[in-house]
Amino acid sequence: MAEIQDIIHKLCDTGSLTREEIIRLLENRDSETQALLAEKASAVAREHYGNKVFVRGLIEFTNYCKNDCYYCGIRCGNKNAERYRLSVEEITECASYGYGLGFRTIVLQGGEDRFYTDDMMVDIIKSIKKEHPDVAVTLSIGEKSFESYKAFFDAGADRYLLRHETADFDHYAKLHPKNLSAENRQQCLYNLKKIGFQTGAGFMVGSPYQTFENIADDLLFLKKLDPEMIGIGPFIPHKDTVFADEKAGDLNLTLFLLSVIRLMLPTVLLPATTALGTIDPRGRELGILAGANVVMPNLSPVGVRKKYALYDNKICTGEEAAECMNCLKNRIGNIGYEIVTDRGDNIKYKSMKEGK
Ligand code: SF4
Repeated sequence: MAEIQDIIHKLCDTGSLTREEIIRLLENRDSETQALLAEKASAVAREHYGNKVFVRGLIEFTNYCKNDCYYCGIRCGNKNAERYRLSVEEITECASYGYGLGFRTIVLQGGEDRFYTDDMMVDIIKSIKKEHPDVAVTLSIGEKSFESYKAFFDAGADRYLLRHETADFDHYAKLHPKNLSAENRQQCLYNLKKIGFQTGAGFMVGSPYQTFENIADDLLFLKKLDPEMIGIGPFIPHKDTVFADEKAGDLNLTLFLLSVIRLMLPTVLLPATTALGTIDPRGRELGILAGANVVMPNLSPVGVRKKYALYDNKICTGEEAAECMNCLKNRIGNIGYEIVTDRGDNIKYKSMKEGK
């Protein structure tokens, strides 16, 4: 089918497609086009980042959340969730433990938990940065005001992850209660960019009600936002949510989209997510081969890991971080890539900051 080949060429040459072209590409996806896109996308990743795969040490410090997103295992409405919070000391100890293992990016992730005031977050950020000035601190703590984001940035936080979830307002309303809006979420992302964070957006693949039109709009939104990081992973149902009986997102569609994203935003930092590793034992390796270049092993204390269950059957909840690192090093090495522990900044952002 010549037309699909034309679309692929256009994607590779320009990094841009129209909404109609994206939909057509998705509708005509087959193993051949998937393999071709993976080859092109991994070549682009190598051109910018070599065979390096960056690791981020993930600390899931609270599973309390004031929100009730219908797909999420730690939403406030889930009375079966066993809640926990790490103290400021426990968080900084985890960060130091990760530093000792070689991690130079620490990701602080949690539900939207009012227990941690802005002042507390500022203290945590400052204390990690003071002890380890060469570490990049990434936050993933949800929607906040412009002022809060600015305070975190001024305290030394470098990056912020906030998946936009879905760019389509109607689809957003099917996944979230009325008090949450796609509009505010997108505004948060623009605020983060404006403040100067390396900003991460993203969405679930195969979330309930998602259409190819939605995915096309997600990709166009990402192209317009031009984030430094993009996190996509398959939707995986959680037994205590509204969507318990929905089917999980598709491995191959997720891999296909990783390749499309790499081609649309060549320098983006793109994780092969834990969710990808959960739906397929080789999911993370396949993600790297499709154009991803980041993995995020867990640094949270083993005792709390299972409790941070956004979805069912999450992998790597039992091993110590050191074991996880060794396992990942072997897995990534086996496919010809190398785990590196430097900060792993987005190269476009870094060049801009250095005035090149
Ligand atoms: S998706 Fe995030 S904001 Fe929504 S309930 Fe889960 S942790 Fe809270």
